[in-house]
Amino acid sequence: MIHVSSAPVESVSWQSLLAGSITDPAELLRRLGLSEDLLAPAIAASGSFALRVPEPYLSRMRPGDPNDPLLRQVLPLGEELVDQPGYVTDPLGEQHANARPGIIHKYHGRLLLVVSAGCAVNCRYCFRRHFPYADNSLSTSEWQDALDYIRSDTSIAEVIYSGGDPLAANDRRLAWLTQEIAAIPHVRRLRVHTRLPVVIPQRVTPALLDALCGTRLPVTMVLHCNHANELDRELADAVRRLRNGGITLLNQAVLLRGVNDSLGAQMALSESLGDHGVLPYYLHVLDQVKGASHFHVPDEQAIALVGRMMIRLPGFLVPRLVREIAGEPGKVPLPVSLGGTELHHALRTF
Ligand code: SF4
Repeated sequence: MIHVSSAPVESVSWQSLLAGSITDPAELLRRLGLSEDLLAPAIAASGSFALRVPEPYLSRMRPGDPNDPLLRQVLPLGEELVDQPGYVTDPLGEQHANARPGIIHKYHGRLLLVVSAGCAVNCRYCFRRHFPYADNSLSTSEWQDALDYIRSDTSIAEVIYSGGDPLAANDRRLAWLTQEIAAIPHVRRLRVHTRLPVVIPQRVTPALLDALCGTRLPVTMVLHCNHANELDRELADAVRRLRNGGITLLNQAVLLRGVNDSLGAQMALSESLGDHGVLPYYLHVLDQVKGASHFHVPDEQAIALVGRMMIRLPGFLVPRLVREIAGEPGKVPLPVSLGGTELHHALRTF
């Protein structure tokens, strides 16, 4: 029998887990007992976007299964190296919305702060896999510039911590930044987009809660969980700590071929999130980023899938199916409806 975990992770600090993430494809395959045939493509594809898998996430994968839905999100494959028409390095045009270092200002009333360039896990479908993070790692004076930008635009009611993963930043940085933002009168809300509690639940510490929740700003955290197998006991405990800290919890997922593109997978994800008090917020269709075309799910399939979820689940557990389009003033919903022809098609194929 293969044992995925080499040591219990409960007592290890999140910083050690982050630093100790697996970055060597050979080690990943060895730990999961997978065929060496996967090694050469994994090495080739990780050349432009590195492999990164933290231990707590690895521990939820099924040994010996190359189709494990968690493994598929992180394993570099040869398909990534095949150019496909329409798949580009900046599918959302973010480099035009990069108002100044550290700031992405796409939508009215809210902006993204690139709080950390790093992630705890490298997701192969990531639309920012080619983002110029080196240009967005801020010095102290650049942080002041970014704050001045927020101070000078009174339309900004919401600041969104993004990245990379913002929770890869240390608690001292997060506490300082949150206090500075809370001191800007027109900012009303703080949002945190993060996958870190999903892949390293140990990240949710009392110090993190103090850093995020210690000001007047209400805090919403949008987790990024794509499959029910990600919701293990450690993550459930972390979610409970976040909720007890007064944070509103939502989830956004990406619809990915071979990972979560079945009714069963989406139902299980929504039900599990609901069990833990996390509301499914968005289900994104894939952004057409270079290297990720093998995750594509056709729109008709996506619409039919969410139509079926609308019949089977309470409305608050059905995520909004959306696409992000460069230059649009917000996310664009796909036409899923109970009375629409799309749903009739879904019912015929139930
Ligand atoms: S955690 Fe988010 S930002 Fe980081 S690689 Fe995954 S999808 Fe991209």
